Amino acid sequence: MAGVTTSSSGFTETDLGRTRRARRIGRALTDTHPDAHCELDHSNPLELAVATILSAQCTDKKVNEVTPKLFARYPRAADYAGADRAELEELIRPTGFYRNKTDSLIKLGQALVERYDGRIPGKLADLVTLPGIGRKTANVILGNAFDVPGITVDTHFQRLVQRWRLTAETDPVKIEHAIGALFPRRDWTMLSHRIIFHGRRVCHARKPACGACTLVKLCPSYGTGPTDPAAAAKLLKGPRARDLAVAAGVDPELVPVQAVVAEAP
Ligand code: SF4
Repeated sequence: MAGVTTSSSGFTETDLGRTRRARRIGRALTDTHPDAHCELDHSNPLELAVATILSAQCTDKKVNEVTPKLFARYPRAADYAGADRAELEELIRPTGFYRNKTDSLIKLGQALVERYDGRIPGKLADLVTLPGIGRKTANVILGNAFDVPGITVDTHFQRLVQRWRLTAETDPVKIEHAIGALFPRRDWTMLSHRIIFHGRRVCHARKPACGACTLVKLCPSYGTGPTDPAAAAKLLKGPRARDLAVAAGVDPELVPVQAVVAEAP
């Protein structure tokens, strides 16, 4: 039948049914993660571009520890363009892969000075031509520094939309288009933050907290992780772990204190 998809696991759904379920998931995530936001500290597009480059293979928390000193020392694109390599390397070393990242930051600064008068451009087509900036980074910058709706397909986003069977695509650009088609454009940026929040705090790669998840009724992968509330509550992470348990109808006392202080990956 047209518009009906059956996945390899036997999960069958019409296109309309999938769109409706996707929108319900979106609404449930809005209620579950009212604090969702871009977790990289920044106050302008250049700072966000730099922080996003540093976040490759590194936690946002670690990046946020490094950037106050970095942003104070290099406030303009020209400062990165003319940076002393050894000094810049030393400042960003804690984020890992610091030699490659230093390369990207210096080249980014040079490209911005040469081609964009030292400013970060506000268009995807321009952003992706800049050193160190791929489509994912460009969408983060557009959505959070320019208010242009963008979908950020990172590892969490990819894992969750596949668990929800919202798309069978595996290529990030195809995933971006497939998920974009299910939601109003104006919701794209916040939807991305909420999905990534859910991936970091509830629906982990190895052991998702299924028994303490607000999406139980909407998720075809329920049961991938422990369904017992006591076991699942231990897997919740972050300062709102107890609120997340309450939202899922689970006794917040089951959430151990370590979960509340745990850093969301
Ligand atoms: S029910 Fe389990 S697999 Fe589905 S979203 Fe929740 S934690 Fe993830």
